[in-house]
This record gives sequence, C-alpha cells and structure tokens, in this order.
Amino acid sequence: MITTPIVSEILQRQRVFYQSGITRDIAFREHQLKALLRTITDSEVAILEALKTDLGKPGFEAYASEVGLVRAEIKYVLAHLRSWARPRRMPVHITQLPSTVWSYPEPYGVTLIIAPWNYPLLLLIAPLVGALAAGNCSILKPSELAPCSSALVARMMAQTFDPGLVTVVEGGPETAEALLAEQFDYIFYTGSSRVGRIVMQAAAQYLTPVTLELGGKSPCIVDADADIEAAAKRIVWGKCFNAGQICIAPDYVLVDERIKLALIEAMQRALRQYYNGNTEQSPDYSRIVNAGHFQRLCALLPHGGAGDQSSRQADTDSPLLAGGTQCIDQGWDGVIVAGGETNAATLYIAPTIIDSPSPDSALMQDEIFGPLLPVLPVQSLDEAIAFINARPKPLALYHFTRNGVAQERVLRETSCGGGCINDVLVHFSSPYLSFGGVGASGFGKYRGRAGFDTFTHEKTILKRSALFDIWFRYAPYKHSYKITKWLM
Ligand code: NAD
Repeated sequence: MITTPIVSEILQRQRVFYQSGITRDIAFREHQLKALLRTITDSEVAILEALKTDLGKPGFEAYASEVGLVRAEIKYVLAHLRSWARPRRMPVHITQLPSTVWSYPEPYGVTLIIAPWNYPLLLLIAPLVGALAAGNCSILKPSELAPCSSALVARMMAQTFDPGLVTVVEGGPETAEALLAEQFDYIFYTGSSRVGRIVMQAAAQYLTPVTLELGGKSPCIVDADADIEAAAKRIVWGKCFNAGQICIAPDYVLVDERIKLALIEAMQRALRQYYNGNTEQSPDYSRIVNAGHFQRLCALLPHGGAGDQSSRQADTDSPLLAGGTQCIDQGWDGVIVAGGETNAATLYIAPTIIDSPSPDSALMQDEIFGPLLPVLPVQSLDEAIAFINARPKPLALYHFTRNGVAQERVLRETSCGGGCINDVLVHFSSPYLSFGGVGASGFGKYRGRAGFDTFTHEKTILKRSALFDIWFRYAPYKHSYKITKWLM
C-alpha cells in the first residue's frame, strides 16, 4: 500500500509542475495528447492481451470499446481544442457599460481520476483526455481488480509523460483512501454508488468539485409493436458484451406481456447464432472478473442456476422453446429460459435469461453487472413507466418501439443519464456526445467537449478603462435608486 508521505510527494511534484504554467500553453497540451495517441496506438497488442488476461475480452470488443474509443476521443479533442480553449467574448449588460466581458477557460490544477475494472483503459484514459486538453495535471488510480491492465497503463503513462503531469498510482481501496485524504483541485470518479458516496465525503472536506460516474439498473422497454427480432438481437448483444459487465448494459427487460414469449424465443435464437450453441468454448465471450463477482452473480441465479457445468458441452434452452410450455414451476426468483450454466474454474457464466422474476427478488434489487437478464412482463407502457419511475434514476434507458408517440412519452415521462431508441449501448460510442448519469447514477458529464468543460473553470472577467465613470453608483445615492430601476 502506498504511504501518505509518498502520496504527498507525488502531489507536490504535480503542484510544482502545474504552477510552472507550462500546461497553459495550448501547443503543449496538443503535444501531450498526440503523445498519448501514439502510445495507445503503439501499445494496441499489449492492451488487447492485458484485457484478455483480466477479463477474457474478445479482441473486437477490446478494440471497439477501449482502444478505438480512446483513439477517436483524442483525435476529436485535438481537432477542436484551439477553439474550445480560446477566451470567448460575452454579451455586456446595460449596467456594465462601457466595457467588454470575457470568459477565460482555465484549468483547475491537479486532478484525481479513479477508475473501475470493467473498462480499465477507457475509463481511466477518456477522462484523462479531458483533463489534459483543459491544461490540468492528473493522478490516475486504476482498479486493482484488473491487475494486468493496471500495470500496463502505469508503464505506458510513465513512458509517455513527465510524472509532474501524469502519474499512475496503483493499488486498492486503501490507496484510493490515501489519495482522497489529500487536497485535489478536481476529482473524477467512475465506479459504484457505494464508493461514490465515500469519494464525495472525502471531497467535501476540501470543497473539491467532483464528477461521479456511477451505475444502477438500466431498464429496457420492449413494446408490443417493436421489431421483435431486432430488439432480441440487440438486447442480447448488449447483455453479452463484456459478459454484461458494463455500467450501461440493459439490466432488465420490461416487455409487453403479449409478445413476451416471442421475444424470449428470439433471444434464445440470437444466443445460439452468436455462440454456435456453445458459449463456453467461444472466443467471443468474456469471463467474470474474479471469484467474488462470480459468486455474487451465481447467488442471483434462480435455484442456484444449472450449477457448475464445467464438463457440459453445449448451452441449453428451457423446454419453453421446444415444447412451448415451461416445465419448471414459476418461482419467486423466476425461471431460467436460456443459459444458467456456470464454471467456477474459468469464471464462466453463460448468458442467462430469467423469465418473470418477482420485482422483489434479489435479481431486481441491485445492478446485476453480469450476463443475467431478467425479463418482466408488463400489461402496458403506463405500467413500464411507473415501474421505472418508482426506482432510482438509471444511467441508461432503452426503448424498443416503432411508435413515435410512445417514444415521446417515455422521453418526457422518465429520467435517465442517456440511452437509445431501438438499440442499446451505442450512444456511448461517439466522442461528439456527452455522457453522464443523473440522480443515483451520478452527476457531471464527459466525452469530447463535455470532458474539456468538466475539467475547466470558466473565469468571467469584465474589462473597462479608468476614464469613464458611472457617477450614480457612488454615495450619496440621491438619484441612484430611480435610475437603476429604469435600467433593470
Ligand atoms: P468500485 O466502486 O468497487 O471501484 C471503483 C474504484 O474505486 C476502484 O479504483 C477501487 O479501487 C476504488 N475503491 C474501492 N473501494 C474504495 C474505497 N473504500 N475508497 C476509495 N476508493 C475505493 O467499482 P467497480 O466494482 O470497480 O466497478 C463497478 C461499478 O462501476 C458498477 O456500479 C458500474 O455501474 C460502475 N461503472 C460506472 C460507469 C459510468 O461511466 N457511469 C462505468 C463503469 C462502471
């Protein structure tokens, strides 16, 4: 574990670096961002290997959702940085005449970025892009639960940056606590709501501004008029991506009861198509990050799932598909209609669809963060909206329907960080769009321009000459009240 004197020393080095003023220079920032882009491009193979070791991430997923996203983010920021960083002339109110008013973007100073394990490169580097673009120094704390990625990022950053500008501090909760005991100028945290509260409390002692990128249960509504095949393919894809270990994964499905059976059958077909009936042998499916999360997820399976199936050769569907009836009694925690197999030795959990668990079941309490998909029937869109609004505001919300009026209703009557209509996950894939939560799923935004703004203090300055003076602002205020009332 890192000691307090070492943390203080790292921080002090960054303060000195920041105070040198070098990060105010836009060309310097561009140079650093280009160096970061080069490092990530040159380290692509090593990054994919580390992600494979930590999470069994397939190469396509690792590239598309980590390396590729970060590269696109840096390129976009580089293309716009000069215009974002320019002082902006603002409108002048009549009470301020004669003058000009300017907004000066200035960096906060020394920032702390804490990341989780599920996207260990993306969730550390994407915020760093905003921090560097805005002219800050950063200490990065990766997650201890993705150790290969953490060690690799530490090496990459050490080779790329002066430690006064960017330093990686590896370690677990104690390390994060040691860092949080210090005074930073901005804290950017991505992770669970539980730790988010700890981070916010630590920030409060110095009144440090924070962004909290948290999680939660992201619902997916499927209306009766939805394109069932497309909905099934996309929802299942979103749940299987990184084995469901995504903050914006569709957590559960609220489906119109009239099409529930058709949707489940289409999802079973999609699963077979993706993994050729044998997900465990597929190179295209990730593993659970560690034994603790594996056990947590197994405990959520109805009746403990299909059990440890290391010797099993193929995935199963329940007789629901073959015979059209369910042979397992409907339990409080639902019926497994696809998957359920687990293998503790390889941390494998099959993509598992659970039909109709009770809203009070364990599955429906906390964010699942794994490949289990509860499907709950609802009688109407009203019921789906009421269900969502009775729970904490989600990070993402997905709605499958062809009906524009229904789309508008869900948009107007629910709140969420962001989401998609007729798709899942892909709203995160663009650096043009800001990303962040609302309510229990967090606050603050980043990606692209929003990342620059998050790490920037907009300083408003009024400029005027000493020549002209507004006499009525000074005492005695004989006519001042009247004139001011006329002006404002
Ligand atoms: P976590 O909260 O356990 O850990 C996140 C980070 O906090 C890690 O670096 C960890 O070392 C550190 N940490 C752990 N305990 C701490 C403590 N007591 N004090 C200070 N720091 C501490 O989260 P996780 O398990 O790594 O990630 C999963 C969670 O993150 C899920 O809830 C998921 O939804 C959320 N998440 C959110 C986003 C988003 O963009 N909103 C993205 C990915 C993950």
